[in-house]
Amino acid sequence: MTTPVFAAQPYSGIASFGRVPIARSAEGYDVSIVGVPYDGSVSYRSGARFGPRAIREQSLLLWGYNNAQKIAPFKVLKVADLGDLDVIPPDIVATHHEIEQGASRILTAGSMLISLGGDHSVSLPLLRAHAKKHGPLALIHFDAHPDTWDSEYPGQRYSHGTPFRRAIEESLIDPSAYVQIGIRGPTNGPEDYLDAIGLGARMITFDEFRQIGLENVLHEIRRRVGSRPAYVTLDIDAVDPAFAPGTGTPEVGGFSSYEMLQLVRGLTGMNLVGFDLVEVAPPFDPANITAILAANLVFEFLSLIALRKAIEA
Ligand code: MN
Ligand code: MN
Repeated sequence: MTTPVFAAQPYSGIASFGRVPIARSAEGYDVSIVGVPYDGSVSYRSGARFGPRAIREQSLLLWGYNNAQKIAPFKVLKVADLGDLDVIPPDIVATHHEIEQGASRILTAGSMLISLGGDHSVSLPLLRAHAKKHGPLALIHFDAHPDTWDSEYPGQRYSHGTPFRRAIEESLIDPSAYVQIGIRGPTNGPEDYLDAIGLGARMITFDEFRQIGLENVLHEIRRRVGSRPAYVTLDIDAVDPAFAPGTGTPEVGGFSSYEMLQLVRGLTGMNLVGFDLVEVAPPFDPANITAILAANLVFEFLSLIALRKAIEA
């Protein structure tokens, strides 16, 4: 039998994230990347089910060395792409169950997890799996929207506008260590923001970000979160639709790509235990602008994990 020749061209071969090995089990890997192709709970434009595939394709040009952070995450970490978790399109509760089980299997194997959405409802079962391992989590939540509604549809507790209220109710996150960053845009009324703040979240609107600046925002995140195990959830609509048009509920007047990168890089050294990046909707993504940014943000997540490992070693 001849040994297959490794295809060195970034555009050839099977599109795993960052061209890392494809694996069936997380066993032996520091970090597992999974897709969560579910968009059954969006309130406007659907399409985020195609997000994981698009992010993988646009990750092929990540050469490996992060010049801003001075680290090569794929060298420091053993990273695998585990493909996609199972979803059941017409049933959100069953889908969440599958996501939680799949995520728990990976965490139990001793691997960290980076999940590619999918709509923002998938963060709830991901938080369930992470809280089972780490206890109540701090939450660093980048988004244009608070996602703390009680219900977007009468009698429906689960959708992409409710995951973090449910997470607080289920004690998956500690509201005193919950920071939302990038919130903006029109809402039904002032109660949308007041609800989130009333639940205990520290809401940093996009306007506040512009007023107090990047360093003060990062300081406020660290002040709230401290050394607690923290989960990072990044809704790509935190970024301005001029930079990230491929998403379901765009809100104008948000972060530039560079600001978003700087915010993520600024989390260096924190006790980050899990990551997701959600709401990339390729049908609205001309020239793959949004998926390219998403792939680079996941590369920044990996760099944070690698830097922490380098510190601990
Ligand atoms: Mn969201
Ligand atoms: Mn959003």
